[in-house]
Amino acid sequence: MKRDLMEILACPVCKGDLDLEVFEEGEGEILTGKLCCKSCGEVYPIEDGIPNMLPPELREEMAR
Ligand SMILES: [Zn+2]
Repeated sequence: MKRDLMEILACPVCKGDLDLEVFEEGEGEILTGKLCCKSCGEVYPIEDGIPNMLPPELREEMAR
């Protein structure tokens, strides 16, 4: 994902602002990292350049 995406992304749970932590970056894109909500503290992983913005309860259902 591009860093610009941070401007439009918001926490799906509380619509709060997100903090970005980058683990791996290349070609101007964030490949792996995480987005942490400043309001409720929920964490959303970024994997293969794609932010997983599903609320935690939905994420668990899909993993089942
Ligand atoms: Zn939140």
